[in-house]
Amino acid sequence: MSRRRLISAFAIVLGLPALTVAWLAWSLLRQDQALEKQRLFESRELAASQAVQTLSTLLANPRLFTDPPAPGALLAHPPTPPLLFLNETPPAPEPPRDTFHPAESLEFQQNALPQAIALYRTLAASPDARVRAGALFRLARCLHKAGRTDAALDTYLALARLQSAFVAGWPAPIAALWSRCLLLESSGRSQPLRSEARELSQLLASGRHPLARPAYSAFADDAARWSGSPRPDQLELLTEAALAIQASDPPPSGRTILLIRNTPITAVWSRTPSRLSVFVASPDYVLRHWLSRAGPGIWLRHDSGATIGPPSSAQASIRYPAESRLPWAVLAATPPSPQDLSSRRRLLLLLLAAVAILTLAGAYAVLRSFRRELALARLQEDFLAAVSHEFCTPLTSIRQISESLEDNRVPSEEKRAALHRSLSRATHRLQRLVEDLLDFRRMQSGALVYHRSLVSVRPFTASLAADFQREVEDHGFTLQSSPAPDLQLLADPEALARALWNLLDNAVKYSAAARTVELHCSSNETSIQWSVRDHGIGISPSDRPHLFQRFYRAEAARRSGIRGAGIGLAIVHEIVKAHGGGIDLYSIEGQGTTITISIPIASPIEGAPCTAS
Ligand code: ATP
Ligand code: MG
Repeated sequence: MSRRRLISAFAIVLGLPALTVAWLAWSLLRQDQALEKQRLFESRELAASQAVQTLSTLLANPRLFTDPPAPGALLAHPPTPPLLFLNETPPAPEPPRDTFHPAESLEFQQNALPQAIALYRTLAASPDARVRAGALFRLARCLHKAGRTDAALDTYLALARLQSAFVAGWPAPIAALWSRCLLLESSGRSQPLRSEARELSQLLASGRHPLARPAYSAFADDAARWSGSPRPDQLELLTEAALAIQASDPPPSGRTILLIRNTPITAVWSRTPSRLSVFVASPDYVLRHWLSRAGPGIWLRHDSGATIGPPSSAQASIRYPAESRLPWAVLAATPPSPQDLSSRRRLLLLLLAAVAILTLAGAYAVLRSFRRELALARLQEDFLAAVSHEFCTPLTSIRQISESLEDNRVPSEEKRAALHRSLSRATHRLQRLVEDLLDFRRMQSGALVYHRSLVSVRPFTASLAADFQREVEDHGFTLQSSPAPDLQLLADPEALARALWNLLDNAVKYSAAARTVELHCSSNETSIQWSVRDHGIGISPSDRPHLFQRFYRAEAARRSGIRGAGIGLAIVHEIVKAHGGGIDLYSIEGQGTTITISIPIASPIEGAPCTAS
């Protein structure tokens, strides 16, 4: 099967199930999402309905009109509406002006302050609280004029105690406190002024003494200026809202939102023929006392766009005032995603990811083995071609020499001897080739047995060098070698010789124009090293990692048309490995290569009997 067909088959076999799984996963996820959407919608709707029910119950609670409200709300109902101010001027009954005429004429026309003071004091003892209040107010004024500030302050204090009296159209306690503040300000007593002003603020905020709106504003401004504290904005808003409801002649009961200075004030009222009770609540009150009981994710919205509670940008269910009969629209945002759904989806995704990873890993493994098989097939083809050629060359020489000898076409004895030598070399070459192939097969299958014996390094190396020199001298090559160390090592001499022969063979084969190769042997405490050096074509860095694989041939060797089966170095590698040694390669392209094998002096050859050589 061609490579392309193999890959197509692979894509179909693996791709189709993978696509099916992906499609299944996608539809499962979509179904899951739709289900979750539906569930979220339902729980949002439920939350909105429950919130409407809770809020309706809270707003219909009759105790709204009986219990004192918490801060942030105000309950206005007769007879004592605790409002800060009123739309109209409340009645301020005072004694007839004639009551104070004699004393005032002493004070203003005759400028007889002591006499006026005495007269005011007499009036201040009157059993009529209204007369007492008017007299104390005027007495304090005279005392101030007479420069008796402390006495004036004390007199105002006495006036402040007359809770239900009026002076100059104002409730006596407010008029007294305000006048004291004025006196303290003019006499530069800032500390007592601040605490007095605070008292005035509290009195104004208590709503105990109703004032007309302009009078309240004037007093509140002064009190705020003197005390350094702001006006009670929220209470003022609530008062305005309650007044607006009272002024509107509302139906017997109801609830609404009033936008007072851009603040949505919630108003609930209940009316009997005799009285109208109005409960007004600030947004803060609504949030803390009502909305907090309506559940999480709920907020309120007024037609003006004003909101109470934190609005959410998520999808929300809405209950409009028309259907809920609440003054605001109630909104319920998507509650947090239910745990079971998200964890189920996570599990599903994990499973799918696992399937995807397994499919990919399987695909990768199959692809890799396909590629390996294809590469091996190609290598084997190359190998067959190369081996056939390797066999061809010595066989042709043998045939030609044998024919010449047979036909007696050799002119001289000398020539005959040379032909015999060539015949012997060709036979040797063939034998080596066959042995290489057989040994390699045995090595690969683990069937090769190494025969370990004591090898004397110097004679072993010298004999190998001499044999090789003889082999290559006809081709003009010289082998340079130096005497090896006079040592012995435990090894299989035949295997070792084959490994070195293969290295020398390569050195010659890939020498290009160079005609010298070198064999050097050295040692250290633990091993013997043989280096084979040439000055040939060298090996590129990209080929180096693969050189010792079976059938591998470097690109440069193929390009140069140098024949080979690609098993020489694989054999070297197997032999060195079996001896527990190592291989070192140093090469510069175009300049040559040095390959060094290092064999431990006491090499642990496996499975071999120890025989003395
Ligand atoms: P054979 O199996 O007949 O030895 P071969 O020489 O091609 O064939 P190996 O000895 O295994 O195979 O070498 C593998 C490859 O390494 C060679 O094909 C060659 O490309 C490269 N090679 C090995 N030795 C050298 C060298 N000294 N200089 C340059 N290239 C080398
Ligand atoms: Mg070789």
